[in-house]
Amino acid sequence: MEFTPINEIEKIHAELRSGFYSGKLKSIAYRKYQILQLGYLLQDNAQRIDEALTADLGRPSVENYFLEIGPCIGEAKKVYQSVDKWAKPEKPAFTFNFFAMRPVIRKEPKGVVLIISPFNYPLWLTIGPVLGALAAGNAVAIKPSENATAVSGLLTELIPKYLDRDLVRVVNGAIPETTRLLELQWDHILYTGSGRVGKIVSLAAAKHLTPITLELGGKSPVVVDPSCDLETAARRIMWGKIVNAGQTCVAPDYILVPKEFQDTLANALKDAYDKFFPETAKPSTNGTYSRLITPQAFNRVNKLLKGTQGTIVFGGEVDEATKYIQPTVVKDVQANDTLMSEEIFGPLLPIVPVKDIDEAIAFINARDHPLALYLFATDKGIKAKVFDNTQSGAAVANECVIHPAVEGLPFGGIGPSGSGCHTGKFTFDTFTHLRASMDSPSWVDMMLSARYPPYTVSDSSA
Ligand code: NAD
Repeated sequence: MEFTPINEIEKIHAELRSGFYSGKLKSIAYRKYQILQLGYLLQDNAQRIDEALTADLGRPSVENYFLEIGPCIGEAKKVYQSVDKWAKPEKPAFTFNFFAMRPVIRKEPKGVVLIISPFNYPLWLTIGPVLGALAAGNAVAIKPSENATAVSGLLTELIPKYLDRDLVRVVNGAIPETTRLLELQWDHILYTGSGRVGKIVSLAAAKHLTPITLELGGKSPVVVDPSCDLETAARRIMWGKIVNAGQTCVAPDYILVPKEFQDTLANALKDAYDKFFPETAKPSTNGTYSRLITPQAFNRVNKLLKGTQGTIVFGGEVDEATKYIQPTVVKDVQANDTLMSEEIFGPLLPIVPVKDIDEAIAFINARDHPLALYLFATDKGIKAKVFDNTQSGAAVANECVIHPAVEGLPFGGIGPSGSGCHTGKFTFDTFTHLRASMDSPSWVDMMLSARYPPYTVSDSSA
């Protein structure tokens, strides 16, 4: 995949602005045509996309279809079917004082927007935002991840074939290219990636007062209460961790469990793991388990593993040549362990024993608000207690990782895990300016003549 020459980036930006001002996207029919084309891009090239995802992440096809290709096609259909309804002007609630001025909310595009996406779900986290941005009538620059080279390369090839070049462009590159992009004035930036880079994006956007949506990461905890359905809980947690080799923003990052229940849970996780991989998870080429994206990512996660003071329950095998890290559960992990020092973003699952649910809540509240908080429990009181006394992007009981795919639910973080949200109508809203509008007839002055001087002193103010 070739990077976009830095000196071309400003030209691309200018061309997109001309494209936006051409007014093509004022037509909802043209937006729908572009959305349909994006749907065809996905459908016609599903096999190549699957191969590209596997080339980048060593990921099994089942996961590629289940987590990216299928949801993207579903999103394209949903957006296509909904855009007429979403884009319609809305009337505010009736008020006697103002209804005659015909107040209305016009749904207008923000303009020319920038979408920066990460490597881990390189299709879904690019195509989903693009669909919403186009539906809302924006011209779009896409900056895919330089680490998912096969997918980024394929999108670079296919997008100009299917979409209007005046309205959608791909800019490839790493830090220098993204820095150049961020120097330019955009009308909205949707950034998905790490909090570290999120701060860089925020600072760059602030220079132009550009509105931003930040979809970041963090350490998403799993609280396991002894009242849970243990076998299901272990299976779902383990799946949430092994899928994409733990490189999922909403992957369970660590478990909090009452100390006396820790071994029971650890054994159940081992059973779940053995059922998933009766022989071995190694290597990624067997089509059952992903690999780490880059040697740097491998080294970072391997270092976290090597530094732990906890007890390995199972796993621990690594292979640098294939960037393979075996799914690994570690128990008796303390708060100051390497595994608790940063978002793991790999297939390691530390268990931190706590005294009780209160201590688990205090542990979560002492840290950054996570992107997701998972709780496995059947006890209604426990569920209410944990959800009512914590903050997180999402609060999910007895399920793991799949809530971003649930239609109608917003996907986003809070504070350090992000701001704003997307998927479905939320993406459309993200890229839409709600333009207050009125058209007041002259006869309204008969009712509101009191607003004009000379003012008469009313009884109440006398
Ligand atoms: P990253 O922050 O390294 O990269 C994301 C994007 O930022 C890439 O396109 C990259 O080119 C660009 N970038 C990197 N360094 C930059 C710099 N100095 N200046 C400008 N741009 C720069 O993230 P990643 O490693 O691709 O993805 C992993 C992170 O993303 C994890 O923290 C994960 O939790 C998070 N994530 C969040 C979500 C979400 O929806 N909230 C989804 C997926 C991943």
